[in-house]
Amino acid sequence: MFQKNGGDFTANIAIIGAGLAGLSTGIHLQQKGFQTEIFELADWAGGVCTAWVRSGYTFDGCIHWMVGTRRGDGFYQLYRDVDALAADTPIYNPPSLQMELDGTVYEVPLQAAGLRAFFTQYVPRRRTAYRRAMRRH
Ligand SMILES: Cc1cc2nc3c(=O)[nH]c(=O)nc-3n(C[C@H](O)[C@H](O)[C@H](O)COP(=O)(O)OP(=O)(O)OC[C@H]3O[C@@H](n4cnc5c(N)ncnc54)[C@H](O)[C@@H]3O)c2cc1C
Repeated sequence: MFQKNGGDFTANIAIIGAGLAGLSTGIHLQQKGFQTEIFELADWAGGVCTAWVRSGYTFDGCIHWMVGTRRGDGFYQLYRDVDALAADTPIYNPPSLQMELDGTVYEVPLQAAGLRAFFTQYVPRRRTAYRRAMRRH
């Protein structure tokens, strides 16, 4: 695949899979001047990050929570490089998210103190495991 062309290497790179990883790899390599070709098994791009319509309802199986969207975060520039974020993309950082379990909707706080209180209230048996996990962050 790599060919010596004078002093430079040119390459035609095959990428297997048009999921987020394959698509991002293609973008990054093309930005560096490489030729790329993406081979995808399915009839659509996106991999598991996809949506589908059935009986009039849209089932969104894609990203619900993009980690690292804050400016200055390590991921932020990666998102910009592949055009997943623009400079003026509004970024919404909710204080909590909602989860439904057996018909009950839980408001799960996303800040450490609130999350700790939430787990202590709803998952008392996990307190030790949770404390251990929080110590690592
Ligand atoms: C329900 C759900 C919710 C999610 N929510 C979030 C979220 O909120 N935030 C977040 O950051 N992440 C989330 N993720 C995870 C994120 O979507 C995935 O990590 C990411 O999309 C994976 O991308 P990928 O390219 O690594 O793999 P994939 O999407 O699996 O892509 C692999 C591609 O390769 C193709 N392929 C495989 N074998 C071959 C072959 N032999 N030849 C050709 N093509 C092949 C497949 O068809 C597929 O298109 C979620 C995932 C799911 C399923």
